[in-house]
Amino acid sequence: STAFRTSGLTKVYGSGHSAVHALRGVDLEIPSGDIVVLLGPSGSGKSTLLNIIGGLDRGTKGEVYFRDHCLSDMSDAQLTRYRRDHVGFVFQFYNLMPSLTARENVELVTEIAADPMDPDEALALVGLRERVDHFPAQLSGGEQQRVAIARAIAKRPEVLFCDEPTGALDSETGRAVLQVLRDVNAEMGSTILMVTHNANTAAMADRVIYFADGGIRKVVENREKLSPSEIH
Ligand code: ADP
Ligand code: ADP
Repeated sequence: STAFRTSGLTKVYGSGHSAVHALRGVDLEIPSGDIVVLLGPSGSGKSTLLNIIGGLDRGTKGEVYFRDHCLSDMSDAQLTRYRRDHVGFVFQFYNLMPSLTARENVELVTEIAADPMDPDEALALVGLRERVDHFPAQLSGGEQQRVAIARAIAKRPEVLFCDEPTGALDSETGRAVLQVLRDVNAEMGSTILMVTHNANTAAMADRVIYFADGGIRKVVENREKLSPSEIH
């Protein structure tokens, strides 16, 4: 089945002479359970697309569907519920609360989610069973990103949106984080939509969408997916 579909999705920031056409009529279909990588140069509109599909922002024109729900028709309150109940986000810079432990950061989500995991179980899934009482400053970059992934998966989201999830990590740590994402995809069946400008990351995807200048240039199905450990 289809997780997401967009048709004619357009995004214009600003107006008049200063208008920026970030998305120029994007038609896209993302199958449920796939790992999809959106690859393209900086400024090509990848984050804008991710933010609109993730319900953080709205398009200017066109339609976005999550299963058979039309995001473009939702009220702000409905969009907030969609974000809270169905999707998880992982960003380049973790966005953890520095004054809270790893477990407490995950609890921020599990306390309001409809059907959450146990916070310690989520942290164990990303290999941090021994670090649940650590504060972010006591963790390495890769560990902090794994806390962010634990927080994102603890609500058992159907979809995980990742914006440059390995962008701040060295390549070995980045591979470990990609492996965690792949395990989540395999064990929970979550659809993963990942934005990156790192072409190597694309090797682990089911599908790679090449993006440039606000539009899709080509979509490639990856028949010989590499495991993250094989990625350079
Ligand atoms: P990158 O993809 O290179 O990490 P960003 O996606 O954060 O960078 O930003 C890409 C471009 O979008 C930059 O040129 C930045 O100036 C511009 N940009 C991002 N956010 C805003 C904003 N809120 N207002 C204006 N311009 C922005
Ligand atoms: P990418 O994620 O591929 O780097 P973005 O989606 O961040 O690209 O940006 C696409 C275009 O939209 C860029 O030209 C950027 O400068 C512009 N842009 C992004 N966010 C904003 C914003 N909040 N206000 C104005 N322009 C923005």
